[in-house]
Amino acid sequence: MAIRNIREVGDKVLLKVSKEVKEVDNKLLTLIEDMLDTMYDAAGVGLAAPQVGVLKRVIVIDVSPEGDDPIILINPVILETDGEQTGDEGCLSVPGKVGTVTRPNYVKVKAFNEKMEEITVEGTELKARALCHEIDHLNGVLYIEKTEGELRNSYTTEEVQ
Ligand code: ZN
Repeated sequence: MAIRNIREVGDKVLLKVSKEVKEVDNKLLTLIEDMLDTMYDAAGVGLAAPQVGVLKRVIVIDVSPEGDDPIILINPVILETDGEQTGDEGCLSVPGKVGTVTRPNYVKVKAFNEKMEEITVEGTELKARALCHEIDHLNGVLYIEKTEGELRNSYTTEEVQ
């Protein structure tokens, strides 16, 4: 178990486009394990590799209430979106803040799992929001570029990604 340092807004690594993963080696498996540890330790519902300073297209998400249902996505691509949701969003790289963001209410994502098998993941509501938020990170996009109105202070960790 290793918790990595979460990069925060102002760190240029968060604005870079991550590279596609070509193969899953031990280094990548360790990265995935550490990303899960780091996400759970920070009580987040998602984390993207650039948030721990690694510019690879890997995200982890867990929106389950118990925090025991991790989803690992390598090279994720959004295939379909539907509808709209507007709500508060936060980010582990922007600590203590929340802002209102409109996202699709449904997304379907194609990706690879840690065995490099192609998988499809669908989600609505928080899961759809988390998928969009984390995939944005892989393209160097932070949610604070998409907020409607001002960022607000948050003292809860519920919405952080
Ligand atoms: Zn984030």
